[in-house]
Amino acid sequence: SLLYYSYKPARSFADPPPAENISANDIFIAVKTTKKFHQSRLSLLLETWISRNVQQTYIFTDGEDDELKKKIGSHAINTNCSAAHSRQALSCKMAVEYDKFIESGKKWFCHVDDDNYVNVRALVKHLSQYPHTQDMYLGKPSLDRPIEATERLGDNKMKPVNFWFATGGAGFCVSRGLALKMSPWASGGHFMNTAEKIRLPDDCTIGYIIESVLGVPLTRSNLFHSHLENLQQVSRSEIHKQITLSYGMFENKSNIINLKGAFPVEEDPSRFKSVHCLLYPDTPWCPPQVPY
Ligand code: UDP
Ligand code: MN
Repeated sequence: SLLYYSYKPARSFADPPPAENISANDIFIAVKTTKKFHQSRLSLLLETWISRNVQQTYIFTDGEDDELKKKIGSHAINTNCSAAHSRQALSCKMAVEYDKFIESGKKWFCHVDDDNYVNVRALVKHLSQYPHTQDMYLGKPSLDRPIEATERLGDNKMKPVNFWFATGGAGFCVSRGLALKMSPWASGGHFMNTAEKIRLPDDCTIGYIIESVLGVPLTRSNLFHSHLENLQQVSRSEIHKQITLSYGMFENKSNIINLKGAFPVEEDPSRFKSVHCLLYPDTPWCPPQVPY
């Protein structure tokens, strides 16, 4: 069964005082996936971090899957967006994520890809530093400078715009206060129109609405990780603190965190099972801890 109770660890003295005492249930975690990755990627997430966080996790996909429905019921959302990797298909999914978040009434919107491990305890701790009613946009940029884009105005006019955005591949979060202000550019069909206006992918469009339109800066955090960075640099002793992890396997080059954990790389190529056993050692399928 995927229903577990999560417990709250004590706050350590090194942490900043919480602005708000939020719990995991105040967070809406949207996982973007596509039907062809249900087996190869999503099932690993369902076995690991999602199994402990079913109540706050919603899967946004593009096809029906009875197995998935059996596992998480209404938390599997068929967006009816096209299954293509096109800009339009991806912003169609983000638009549905946004609308479902607003509908949920939760305090924080967090978006991740289906190759992300989310350490929900670290996420709760991090978000607790900020009031959800204020304008907060948290994540990690993938570029070392603002992206240069062109806004298409009416009458064939073009306007250059520069802004930072948090890469979707590392995951990012938006406070409810800010999400509500995004509504004229993000709700209903507006998100797709906005994405077309700058002709950039979904995560860039989020950055455009927040930084360029609303003038709210991205708050950077190094606790979010995508496979665009060298994941070897995340050390075992720091894993507890990280909010998201990822993995990349391109051709025969792999980019994974360096963790001697519960499972060898052959059995756990992404390292997510080993991470999960480190964070939740009471998991039934985790081997006894001592030899790690
Ligand atoms: N994705 C999608 N539709 C597609 C291909 C990918 O929704 O046709 C999703 C995928 O499930 C993942 C995200 O888009 O959550 C990024 O895909 P991927 O990791 O393959 O590419 P990356 O951008 O990281 O290179
Ligand atoms: Mn990816």
